Amino acid sequence: SYSVAACGGGAEDECPNLPLPRHGLEFYINGRWVAPSEPSSTLPVINPSFGRPISTISLGRAADADSAIRAARGALPSWSESSLAERRRYVERLLQIYRRRREEMAQLISAEMGSPIDEARGAQAGSGVYHIRQFLRALEYFESERLVPGMAEGSSNTVIRLEPIGVVALITPWNWPISQVTLKVIPALLVGCTCVLKPSEMAPLSSLLFAEMIHEAGFPPGVFNLVNGDGDGVGSHLSSHDDVDMVSFTGSTRAGRLISQAAAASNLKKVSLELGGKGANLIFDDVVDLEKVVRAGVWGCFDNTGQNCNAPTRMLVQRGSYDEAVRIATETTCHDGGAALVGPAHEPGDHYGPVATGAQFERVQGYIQSGIDQGAKLVAGGLGRPPGANTGGFFVRPTVFVDVMPAMTIAQEEIFGPVLCIMPFDTEEEAVEIANGTPYGLTNYVHTEDRERQRRLARSLKSGMIEMNGIEADGGAPFAAIKASGNGREGGIWGLEDFTVIKVVSGID
Ligand code: NAD
Repeated sequence: SYSVAACGGGAEDECPNLPLPRHGLEFYINGRWVAPSEPSSTLPVINPSFGRPISTISLGRAADADSAIRAARGALPSWSESSLAERRRYVERLLQIYRRRREEMAQLISAEMGSPIDEARGAQAGSGVYHIRQFLRALEYFESERLVPGMAEGSSNTVIRLEPIGVVALITPWNWPISQVTLKVIPALLVGCTCVLKPSEMAPLSSLLFAEMIHEAGFPPGVFNLVNGDGDGVGSHLSSHDDVDMVSFTGSTRAGRLISQAAAASNLKKVSLELGGKGANLIFDDVVDLEKVVRAGVWGCFDNTGQNCNAPTRMLVQRGSYDEAVRIATETTCHDGGAALVGPAHEPGDHYGPVATGAQFERVQGYIQSGIDQGAKLVAGGLGRPPGANTGGFFVRPTVFVDVMPAMTIAQEEIFGPVLCIMPFDTEEEAVEIANGTPYGLTNYVHTEDRERQRRLARSLKSGMIEMNGIEADGGAPFAAIKASGNGREGGIWGLEDFTVIKVVSGID
C-alpha cells in the first residue's frame, strides 16, 4: 500500500523501495488528510546521500495553520476533561502501531536526513519507542493535584492543580526528527493538551508517517494536527497566534529568539526552548584509560555526523595527557584515510552519513575554513568531500583541529557537523572557565577519578546536563538546558509538567 520513491534519475541501488507516506502533499487537520487551503508552493525532500529529491511536500500558509489551530481548540474541552487513563490507552495503542511500523520509520528517517540505516533502525527510530515508554512510565509519578504543605504542622486548606496549558504549537528540527516529535507530542497529549505540529521542512516524511500512526490509533479528531511549512510561513504564524497557548520549540538559537519575540508581541504565550549547544568534554590527567576516553569523545562528537545539540565538540585535555590525546584522536579519525568512515545512508554499517542538507554542508565548510584562517592546527579531515564520496551527497570529512584557542569561532559557535576542537588546559579553574566561556549551556562531559573534583564540577559547570565518566543520564531524567541553549525540560515527569499550568485552589475539602 505504499508508493515507491522515484529516484530522481539515480541508479537503482541508490534508492531502495522507500515506503513513502501516502499523503505527502496534504496536511492532517481535524482527523482528516486535507489539501492546502489555497494552491500552495511545494518543496522537494532531498536525500542528502545523493542530493536528489525523493518526495515533495506542500508548504502551508497562515490559513492552513489557522484551520489546524481551530481544530485543536475545538477538540480541547473534551480531550482535556477525559481521564488520564483514557488518554493513556490511546498512547499505548499508538506504541503498538509504532512498533509494528518501526522499519518504515527507520527507512524514512534514513532517506530524509542521512542517518545510516543501522543507526536509523536503532537509535533514531528507536527513540520514538523509547520516549513513548518513558512518558508512560513518568505518568505513574505525575500528580495532577497536590496538597500544599500547610504553614502549621498537619494543616493545609490549599490544593495545587496541574491543568493542561491548552492548545500547543510544536516546532521541531531535522537532526533527530522523530525523537523531537515524540518528546513533544506524547507529553502534550498525555496531560490533556491538543496540538499542532510543524515538523522540519527538511525532514517531514517521518512526521507524516507519525500522523498516519496517530490516525490509525484512533485519537479523536483535532487532538493532533500536522501542517507542513517553513519557519517564516507556518512557524512564525503559530508563534504569533493569539489562540495558541504555548510553543514548544527545538532548533537553532536564532529561531528560538524570533519565536520568543513573536510570543511576547502576541498573547505572551509560554515558550519552551531546546536550542543549540557547544559541549565541553573535560579530560583530566587522572583518567585510568585515556585511549578509551578519547576515542569515545571523538565518536561522540561525530555521532549523527556531528548533528547533535549535545555533542562533545570541544575536547579539553589536561596538559600531561594532551599530546597523547591528540595522537589518539587523530588516529581514531584518520582510520583508513578517512574514506571508509563515510558512506551513503542506505548502506548497512557503522559509517557516518552525509550532513542533512546542502546548506548545512556549506555552513560546515565555512567553519572549517575559519578554523584554518584563525590559526587552529588541522590534524585530520579538512575542506571538501572525503575521497571517494562522489555520489553528489553532502559528505563532510570528519575533521579534528588541535591547539584551538577558546576565542576562535570554531570554539565558540555551534558547527553542527563532524568537527572536533581539541585544546589544552592546566588547572581545573582554567578548564571551567573555558567550558563556561560560550553562550551555550546544554551538556558538559567530565572524565576524572577524583570524587571531590566531580562534585565541584557538578556545581561549577554552567549547563543543564553534566555527564561524569561516560555514565548517561537515566531515561526518566529531562533533557535540560540553560543560557542560550534555552529553558527546556523535556522528558520524564518534567516533560509532562512542562505542558501544564498550575492553579491554586483553597477552601474546598
Ligand atoms: P532551525 O531553527 O533552523 O529550524 C527548526 C524548526 O524551526 C524548523 O521546523 C523550522 O522550520 C522552524 N523555524 C525556523 N525559523 C522559524 C521562525 N522564525 N519561527 C518559527 N519557526 C521557525 O533548526 P534546524 O537547523 O532544523 O536544527 C538544528 C538546530 O536544532 C541546532 O541548533 C541544534 O542544536 C538544535 N537542536 C537542539 C536540541 C535540544 O534539545 N537542545 C535538539 C536537537 C536540535
